[in-house]
Amino acid sequence: MSRNVNRRTCRTALAVLFFLALPIVGRTSVIPNPGKFLDETEAVRTKNHALFVTRLNELRTGVSSLDQHERWHLRYLEAWEAMYNGNYVGSRIQFQDIIDHSNDPVLTAKSSARLLSSYGITRDYEKAFALANRLATELPKLKDAEAHAEVLYDLSQTFNLAGQSDLALKYAQMLVDTTPPGGSLCYPLTSKVFALSNAHKVQSDSAELKQAIQACIADDQPVVQNSLWLVQGEHLLAEGKPTKVLAMLGSIRKSLDQNKFQPHLLSALAQRAEAYEMLGRDNDAEQAALSAIKMSDPGDVSEWLRDVYQVLYRVAKRRGESSTALRYYQYYVEQDRGYLNDISARTLAFQLAKQQVLAKKLETEELSKQNAILKLQQQLDAKAVETSRLYIVLLLIGLTGIVLWLLRLKHSQLRFKRMATRDGLTGILNHQHFINESERQLRHLERKSGQASLLWMDLDHFKQINDTHGHAAGDAVLRHIVKVCNDHLRPGDLFGRLGGEEFGILLLECERDHAIAIADRIRLAIEGDPLEHEGMMLSVSASVGVASTCNAGHALQRLCRRADAALYRAKRDGRNRVVADAGEGTSVFA
Ligand code: GH3
Ligand code: MG
Ligand code: MG
Repeated sequence: MSRNVNRRTCRTALAVLFFLALPIVGRTSVIPNPGKFLDETEAVRTKNHALFVTRLNELRTGVSSLDQHERWHLRYLEAWEAMYNGNYVGSRIQFQDIIDHSNDPVLTAKSSARLLSSYGITRDYEKAFALANRLATELPKLKDAEAHAEVLYDLSQTFNLAGQSDLALKYAQMLVDTTPPGGSLCYPLTSKVFALSNAHKVQSDSAELKQAIQACIADDQPVVQNSLWLVQGEHLLAEGKPTKVLAMLGSIRKSLDQNKFQPHLLSALAQRAEAYEMLGRDNDAEQAALSAIKMSDPGDVSEWLRDVYQVLYRVAKRRGESSTALRYYQYYVEQDRGYLNDISARTLAFQLAKQQVLAKKLETEELSKQNAILKLQQQLDAKAVETSRLYIVLLLIGLTGIVLWLLRLKHSQLRFKRMATRDGLTGILNHQHFINESERQLRHLERKSGQASLLWMDLDHFKQINDTHGHAAGDAVLRHIVKVCNDHLRPGDLFGRLGGEEFGILLLECERDHAIAIADRIRLAIEGDPLEHEGMMLSVSASVGVASTCNAGHALQRLCRRADAALYRAKRDGRNRVVADAGEGTSVFA
């Protein structure tokens, strides 16, 4: 059974990162001093969240007795609570307001750390890594120990997300080293375990893992403890010890149920399913896998779901239930593809942020070089004219070299940006970017009550092209098809490659009947325009599913489901045709 502990550990780490923040001191009682009351309220955020909410309400009622600084502190706690409740957009506005206007370096640093986590959760990787770079640069200037620790923790987790284990470990180690004597080591050691685990330097019985668990037990941090136990579970599975996994899951079951932290519940079920399967208990494995699916929202993409679909596929295959096995296999592939897209988006965004930092550095260097050139010119004025001319020419040559170098750097930045949004083979939008742009356009259309239609297109028997004429010929056909389709689209329409030989087209301001006509024109054009490749004529046909906002509404997920179902019908009814979704059922058009 192939496993990847690295990616899983990163995921578990983030689950903790994004919902918890560093604890400060132990539980204390309420005293009638607003400044102290605020600090104490902040301290119980993750240890006793219900108490935190009660105290927040008390602070809101007594807001008139707070001074300016205390009001900003209250706003920070309110923003923190909004983020904890999943209101990422709203809380970002509040954090940004604190950063821009509070004039308080500690609250500013803490708010920046929260923004960093928030961008990670919502997969705004470009923003996350750009901010991480900035925070890392400003870190030495940050004097407040608590804010310093929060920034270090979030930096470590963000670099884990980018697969940069060395950097993640560096920040985790700084966090351990800067913890004051007697302070809790729960979060510092936990972040070190995540970084080590990503670097494949931890096993299920490693001392680092045990120490981190001990520190979190001592600090009474049940949710972080569970994260660590689940990291251990992943390693136990990788080491082929399913019985130990089940024993560990049994021992934390009560705590998981009490804390109701969804990523942990899902992760535990996925581990349970895989452990049962290793023990040959297919029925139990199936039951755990199905519970995991039931718990997640439709459209979710995660490694846990990928793993449980893989278990279900193998169980069905062993039972000889081939059509069920095939269905699970398709779900498994969809999950795997979605997850890999996410990984490549993260890596590219990280590279982009790195390039930008490099460009800034070079721009600064160029400025200081220009200054030096000016000084030299002044000195040269006093000397003989012919000598000075010669120097100036030489200096200009140097300057031209720097400018050329900067231009090359800009060029490579643009290339990275393009790689992050475009499909490498055909140049049209990649899957992730197509989905993001479509969601944005649909929201815009919904506000002004406009209509749109989604075409879901899959080439017929495309595998035969590869099998008969080779993969290079298949690639040429894919590029040709994109050209043919582009001739029938308007500049504003969105056109993306969803994977393999599958394409999505979002026609804006386009009613259902018109969309069906366009889809059929595209289908006819593909059928009637074979590609000449190395002396052979390669012809293909396409099947298209159409769904429109007039029937399916403006939610992209539903539009995709309907278009996909219509495409499925087109395939089933013989291929080379357009089928449109008609609300309740579907109807054939060409
Ligand atoms: P169907 O009519 O059911 O859609 O049959 P199909 O053969 O098109 O479908 P299937 O999904 O079985 O095969 C799709 C093939 O597309 C499999 C793979 O070889 C090929 N493919 C996927 N991506 C690429 C690519 O980037 N380049 C090339 N040349 N082929 C690709
Ligand atoms: Mg196909
Ligand atoms: Mg296909």
